[in-house]
Amino acid sequence: PIVLGIESSCDETGAGLVRDGRLLGHVVASSMAEHARYGGVVPEIASRAHLHALRPVVRQALDEAGLRLADIDAVAVTTGPGLSGALQVGVAGAKRIAYALGVPLYGVHHLAGHVAAGTLEHGPLPDPCMVLIVSGGHTSLLLVRDLARDPIVHLGDTLDDAAGECFDKVARVFGLPYPGGPAIDRTARDGSPRAVAFPRPLTGPRDAPYDFSFSGVKTAAARWAEGHTGLELPVADGAASLQEAVADVLTRKAVAACREHGVGTLVVVGGVAANSRVRSLAEERCRTAGIELRVPPLKFCTDNGAMIAAVGDLLVQAGAEAAPLDVSIDPSAPLQYAALHPVAVAA
Ligand code: ATP
Ligand code: MG
Ligand code: FE
Repeated sequence: PIVLGIESSCDETGAGLVRDGRLLGHVVASSMAEHARYGGVVPEIASRAHLHALRPVVRQALDEAGLRLADIDAVAVTTGPGLSGALQVGVAGAKRIAYALGVPLYGVHHLAGHVAAGTLEHGPLPDPCMVLIVSGGHTSLLLVRDLARDPIVHLGDTLDDAAGECFDKVARVFGLPYPGGPAIDRTARDGSPRAVAFPRPLTGPRDAPYDFSFSGVKTAAARWAEGHTGLELPVADGAASLQEAVADVLTRKAVAACREHGVGTLVVVGGVAANSRVRSLAEERCRTAGIELRVPPLKFCTDNGAMIAAVGDLLVQAGAEAAPLDVSIDPSAPLQYAALHPVAVAA
């Protein structure tokens, strides 16, 4: 079966087509540039951009795959979490297509989509696997078994800022352009990771082993910048040291979680998986620990429709029940199952 996936939870409009675990085509349109002057995503602007982008993005994904709309056998769409107006646009579009074609509709949890991004280039996820999700809105360690059938076990979360949010906010303090994560990464190339000793929160023996906290790192970076008022800020050193602190905590905890739970594969997904130091440190530490590391290509790390199609494909293959055509969005959906509506899967 050919599954169309639609993603519109934040500022990316994505459409992807997957058949039996294989990606046939995908297109992403981003309104990121329109939000840049506001220093963050403006929900109204995001919704309007989705409205304009959805049809062309689906059309282009079909063209890329050499398919027609009528070839689609199922539609999967992000129903949450995310910005409500933004989610609404994608879900309305998905319902229209599912209704017009008379094919089943699946409501997908956005983070399950990020997890499934790990299948697009590398094939099915091993059961079990450890997944580190690091994005602009989330930082979580998940124990994943069968994505279509089993509940996802949340081992830990950030107690305050997400890792990407920390990069974005510190970048602003450092005077770097939006979005901050890529700017920190670029700037860090010319700096020393040992220049500033930023804190490694929640890494003590009595701390929650798999929870994260990045607001202290953010504050420390802001203090460090303030300490240079009137002087030239060594931004490259600050960026390299910040990146080192964040990458150190993320990879240390992820590898410890694999060891503790006897899991042989670590998957790192979400926009921050694009960070060069997160990647290199994860590689180093996984190699030492004998853990297989999977990091999807950058284009599948950030929000896209292919990852949603990949979840839809798994649900179809598991014989999961489809969502009703009046399925609603859930902007703050907790992550439990990959499908956001109740599913009965075939035995
Ligand atoms: P969520 O998926 O949690 O709803 P989101 O859509 O904002 O949030 P993504 O699109 O997956 O998240 O990722 C965007 C985040 O990734 C931003 O915070 C951005 O700064 C960060 N990011 C992107 N590239 C890099 C990089 N090279 N280094 C560090 N951070 C990066
Ligand atoms: Mg995004
Ligand atoms: Fe995302």
